[in-house]
Amino acid sequence: MMRVLLTNDDGIGAEGLHALRRALGDVDGIEVHVIVPDSNRSATARSITTRSPLSVEEVEMDDGFIAYATDGTPVDCVRFADLGLVGDRPDLIISGINHGSNLGDDITYSGTVAAALEGIVLGIPAIAISQQGSAQEMGFVPGPQFEFGVAAAFGAELVRMLGETPLPAETLLNVNCPAGDPDGIEVTGLGKRLYNDELRLVGEDGDGRRRYQIYGFEPSFEDEPGTDLAAVARGRISITPVHFDLTDRDGLTRMRGWDLDRMFREVLAGAGSA
Ligand code: MN
Repeated sequence: MMRVLLTNDDGIGAEGLHALRRALGDVDGIEVHVIVPDSNRSATARSITTRSPLSVEEVEMDDGFIAYATDGTPVDCVRFADLGLVGDRPDLIISGINHGSNLGDDITYSGTVAAALEGIVLGIPAIAISQQGSAQEMGFVPGPQFEFGVAAAFGAELVRMLGETPLPAETLLNVNCPAGDPDGIEVTGLGKRLYNDELRLVGEDGDGRRRYQIYGFEPSFEDEPGTDLAAVARGRISITPVHFDLTDRDGLTRMRGWDLDRMFREVLAGAGSA
């Protein structure tokens, strides 16, 4: 049996989570465990809870399935699974279905993608899956309407496929499903977001304290073919392979040409005279 951890960042009450859990129930040869935040932790990225113990509550679903709800972050949920809360460590992490897209530069803020990243940091292959809002919003703050049928079926199919042909442990798949009937599936690279946020003063408290809104303005994107943003904008399911090697290889080569000995002498001389 392949052990699958299902988690999310929208919390135990999220419809997308339950749609995916039901779809995974039809996949043969897997054992599904659910560890999720007890409420919405969207945009918490890779934050972890280090300064206090975490609470865990068993929550019975309407079909009798027992899920675990924690007051931790999405990454904490993956750590719980890795450390044995529900038995042996998982063979695969699947995170979602997120309520709203996780595209391009946005993924670095995403709790959904962060949980999947934690999988590959720990050597466990992972899938993050997100659903565009029904109004086809291209921003990351969706409206209230979602249809999870296609994303749930696609997530189940991916898990079935990876059961036969495993992903390399250092790879995560970031999946985004467009609203409506999709037009196809495309393998993509991460696109470029254009954040149109502005500094908006929303109040003055009179004691020298001001309040600003700096997020929530509708973003746009560079519409470049081959990117996740372009694929979803055209109604196609996007799959982006992502890894965690943050080292800039070109930069490494360039910087190895720097005169580090000279810099080091300058630093020592400067430190001596300070
Ligand atoms: Mn979310």
